[in-house]
Amino acid sequence: MRTQVGIVGAGPAGLMLSHLLHLEGIESAVVEARSREYIEERVRAGVLEQGTVDLLIHTGVGERLKRQGLVHHGIELSFGGRRHRINLTELTGGSAITVYAQHEVIKDLVKARLDAGGPVLFDIEDTGVHGLDSDAPAIRFRKDGEIQEISCDFIAGCDGFHGVCRDSFPSGVLNIYERSYPFAWLGILAEAPPASEELIYTYHQRGFALFSMRSQAITRLYLQCAPDEDIGQWPDDRIWGELRARLATSDGWSPTEGPVLQKGITGMRSFVVEPMQFGRMFLAGDAAHIVPPTGAKGLNLAIADVRVLARALAEFYASGRRDLLDQYSRTCLRRAWKVQRFSWWMTSMLHRFDEDSGFDQRRQLAELDYLTSSRAAMTALAENYVGLPMEW
Ligand SMILES: Cc1cc2nc3c(=O)[nH]c(=O)nc-3n(C[C@H](O)[C@H](O)[C@H](O)COP(=O)(O)OP(=O)(O)OC[C@H]3O[C@@H](n4cnc5c(N)ncnc54)[C@H](O)[C@@H]3O)c2cc1C
Repeated sequence: MRTQVGIVGAGPAGLMLSHLLHLEGIESAVVEARSREYIEERVRAGVLEQGTVDLLIHTGVGERLKRQGLVHHGIELSFGGRRHRINLTELTGGSAITVYAQHEVIKDLVKARLDAGGPVLFDIEDTGVHGLDSDAPAIRFRKDGEIQEISCDFIAGCDGFHGVCRDSFPSGVLNIYERSYPFAWLGILAEAPPASEELIYTYHQRGFALFSMRSQAITRLYLQCAPDEDIGQWPDDRIWGELRARLATSDGWSPTEGPVLQKGITGMRSFVVEPMQFGRMFLAGDAAHIVPPTGAKGLNLAIADVRVLARALAEFYASGRRDLLDQYSRTCLRRAWKVQRFSWWMTSMLHRFDEDSGFDQRRQLAELDYLTSSRAAMTALAENYVGLPMEW
């Protein structure tokens, strides 16, 4: 098979890139290790920045999002038993976030790609990328037992943190910047109508907790836990008891409880590779950077990367200009580091650190007190939370 842009991975980055290229009249092919059913049910992110929402709607894949997405104009920070609202829309001059599950975005994008003729190849194995510094790179893989190859002009490595593209850079090219955290998140999906209309980020002596939702009927809740926590030690009663202890506020509010539909542990990591390109291959999304989930940024950053890449490729095919492609890494890393900073800041402000002697707790409470009483500080949080403007 021959195409212009070969894309490894049908996550938000790979599918959105393929969709944007199609709108520019550029051919692409997406190869994905998992089945269509698997990626359309995989529960992950759920908070979309204003720019992500606008892009999905303006490019024709936002119909269900407009109908089913929950638009939130604020978030709450809870500490000392009291909740404090940050009015995102007022502080940012009109922006908001939308709660719409990542797997719903995936369903919308897969449908759009297949309706437009794709191709999206699922269930592939043994992916490899070749000839990255030549004019004719290729993706080789096994499908239905047979080795196949897609030759292309460019490869987009959108295969997530555990993919193969990043590891295919020649040794010595990549610099890795990494930070791991001494905790993880235990997350549940519960069949319970959300007891609050907005997300609540809670700082508590027992550890961080997040109240969020996926729909009018499904609540999504997270608890800070140990990085090596055994989910088997967390029967539903223990989870609800811990959630009540951390989330309940002195006005009597606590989350509505219901059957737990799913539970799992999510690790916390900050990770960036530089550069995000080598020869004719470009990394995008989690393949190039991971943020701790506290800032709700991973999916949004993946979409921001491919927006830059699609524009650079469109410019190349329209005029032969390579300068935007050459600047791809620099342009994306500028945003990625600002998002890393914000995600690290939210994480360090809201979580309990085991080695803390009491100094950090008092500093964290002072920071939350300042944040919720200073318009300037609330504005800084709000403009990062709804998403920084796109740069080209
Ligand atoms: C529990 C959880 C909660 C999260 N919450 C949020 C949130 O609230 N907001 C937010 O913005 N982000 C959140 N994130 C992060 C967000 O989900 C990721 O940042 C996002 O999925 C990145 O998209 P991507 O396309 O780069 O990578 P992925 O979604 O990981 O997609 C990569 C794709 O490549 C495929 N693949 C891998 N290897 C190969 C191979 N060798 N060959 C072919 N295909 C391959 C994978 O199967 C996958 O489909 C969360 C993540 C988790 C795990």
